[in-house]
Amino acid sequence: MTTHTAVADRLSPFGTTIFSEMTRLAIEHDAINLSQGFPDFDGPDFIKQAAIKAMGDGENQYARSFGVPALTRALSDHWSRETGFEIDDTLSVTVTSGCTEAIAATTLGILNPGDEVVVFQPYYDSYRACLSMAGAIPRFVTLHPPANSAETCVESPFSFDESELRAAFTNRTRAILLNTPHNPTGKVFSREELELIAALCLSHDAIAITDEVYEHLVYEPETSPHVRLATIDGMQDRTVTLSSLGKSFSLTGWKIGWAIAPPHLTAAVRSAHQFLTFATSTPFQHAAAVAIRQGDDYIRSLVADYRRRRDLLADGLAEIGFKVFKPAGSYFILADHTSFGSADDVGFCRRLIEDQKVAGIPPSAFYEDPSLGSSLVRFAFCKRDDTLRAALERMRSLRS
Ligand code: GLN
Repeated sequence: MTTHTAVADRLSPFGTTIFSEMTRLAIEHDAINLSQGFPDFDGPDFIKQAAIKAMGDGENQYARSFGVPALTRALSDHWSRETGFEIDDTLSVTVTSGCTEAIAATTLGILNPGDEVVVFQPYYDSYRACLSMAGAIPRFVTLHPPANSAETCVESPFSFDESELRAAFTNRTRAILLNTPHNPTGKVFSREELELIAALCLSHDAIAITDEVYEHLVYEPETSPHVRLATIDGMQDRTVTLSSLGKSFSLTGWKIGWAIAPPHLTAAVRSAHQFLTFATSTPFQHAAAVAIRQGDDYIRSLVADYRRRRDLLADGLAEIGFKVFKPAGSYFILADHTSFGSADDVGFCRRLIEDQKVAGIPPSAFYEDPSLGSSLVRFAFCKRDDTLRAALERMRSLRS
């Protein structure tokens, strides 16, 4: 009997995702879980009632593979409202099982083995694994923390070197995989940055895959509005925009996501989606359609709550002695833990969970070179005010 792993080579480097690992440890140590990004409060009742109604109405068999008409139409209407572009939902929208499936369907559906893909690091861990499953070659561009941020700073976000981005594009580049607002840095890419990315996509005939799951979670709309890459000149015909219901409506367990793209790219996404999951849960799709058509008020109040919670956590962490990189978007905060004397992020997170009983994410999991993330820790603030206050109270003992 051989004892070596049965995991295929294309997946064996990635182990168990850090999100499963940290939530498991949080439960084991009875810690307050600020690691995996999910709300500790429930999603809105009107959407849950819509799911119950759909089940009662008999919407319980397979959906059309690319999504039930009620949802694909709600998404195409929402897209027109947001971008001014009219699209045909039957040709341009694909509903998936969360954005994570949309990332898999898009990469597997579009990329050929050997294609190069430009990716910013830190990155959401599934990007790296999906590129490997597709046989594609990642070219990393690093987002650097602001250099002289002595205190909590939202004004100077993480940034990249233009020359590094230019150098990452080659004649083998097939796509760039972008995430804005960005997990884990909270960066909202500026229009100027997106115009540079667009110019490089156009000059290299590359596709853009943009993960915009935090599209509504922006806290500085005057100075750092969310700009959709698809709306930059020349990009509409070469961009696949991905998003989901989970973050905007506090329903991360529903796993409803989507890809919006021009018909030729949608055909590629669907070619993989039909063999990954075929279709996603029918009653939840009907409820998602209701959420998208009637959800503006909910999102408005959620953003106000998250802005308050961001400030509460950022200020509290700074007071304890972290250097805090205050985010303009998403529901995560990166902080520098080095004043507390741990050797690296994994050691710091282990100590934090065992001694303070608070779970964060060690961000080295989001870098190709783990040393780039070793001074950082990621905390999620998609939690009740009380939860954040209790976590801060526990972390005060870091100072002693
Ligand atoms: N996107 C969430 C995060 O970054 C978690 C996703 C997951 O658990 N797979 O925490």
